[in-house]
Amino acid sequence: MSAGTPTPAASSWPVRLGLFGGTFDPPHVGHLVTAVNVLHALGLDQVILMVNNVAWQKEGTRQITPADDRLAMVVAAVADVPGLVAGRTEIDHGGNSFTADTLQALRADHPSAEFFTIVGDDAAAGLHSWTRSDEVVASSHLVVVDRPGDPVDLPDDIDWIRVEAPRLEVSSTDLRRRFSDGRPLDYLVTEPVLDVIERRGLYSGADE
Ligand code: ATP
Ligand code: MG
Repeated sequence: MSAGTPTPAASSWPVRLGLFGGTFDPPHVGHLVTAVNVLHALGLDQVILMVNNVAWQKEGTRQITPADDRLAMVVAAVADVPGLVAGRTEIDHGGNSFTADTLQALRADHPSAEFFTIVGDDAAAGLHSWTRSDEVVASSHLVVVDRPGDPVDLPDDIDWIRVEAPRLEVSSTDLRRRFSDGRPLDYLVTEPVLDVIERRGLYSGADE
C-alpha cells in the first residue's frame, strides 16, 4: 500500500514519472485502465494518481467527498498494481490544488525526473483554463487518453502524446448516481475500493 512520495526515491538516475491528477470521487476502472496503459505505453517508472485537495473547478457544483476518504479509496485501488501509487502531495499542501504547484513540488524531490502530465480528453480540452497552464506545458510532457464519445478538440499549441487505451464509458458522476439509486458498482470499481466505501459509509447521502 503506498501513498505519498513515489518509491524511486530521491533520484540520481532519471526516472519517468506520470502525474495523473483527479478528484477520484470515487476512483474507477476508467482511471486504472488509463494509468496502467500510459505506464506501459510510455515506459514510465511510475504513475502517481494524485488526489486533489480542493477540486476548485468542481467546488459549488456538488458535495465532494472529503479528501482523506478519496485518498483512502485511491490507496486501496492501487495497492496491488505495480507501478501505480497514490499521491498525497496536494492534500498535504492544502488549499486549492494546482498541477503547476504539484509538478514544482515533485521536481524538488526528483530533480532529474522527466514528468508526464496525464489527462483524459475532457480535461485536456480545458487545459488552458488551468492556473499557470504554461508552467505545466513547459515542465512536463502532456499525455492525453480518449474517453468514449465524440472526438474532443484539443488545444493545438501543445505537442500532445496520445495513448490508446480501451475506452471505458464510466465516470465518477455515473457511479455516484448508481450508488444513490442502489444499483451495483461491482466491476466498475475494484473490490478494495468497494470495501473502503462500505467501511467509511461513503456516498450514503449522495446527491448526484
Ligand atoms: P467526475 O464525473 O466526478 O468528473 P471522472 O470520472 O471524470 O469524475 P475525475 O476525477 O474527474 O473522474 O478525472 C480525473 C482524470 O481522469 C481526468 O483527467 C479525466 O479525464 C480522467 N478520466 C476519468 N474517467 C476516465 C475514463 N473513463 N477514461 C479515461 N480517462 C478518464
Ligand atoms: Mg471529471
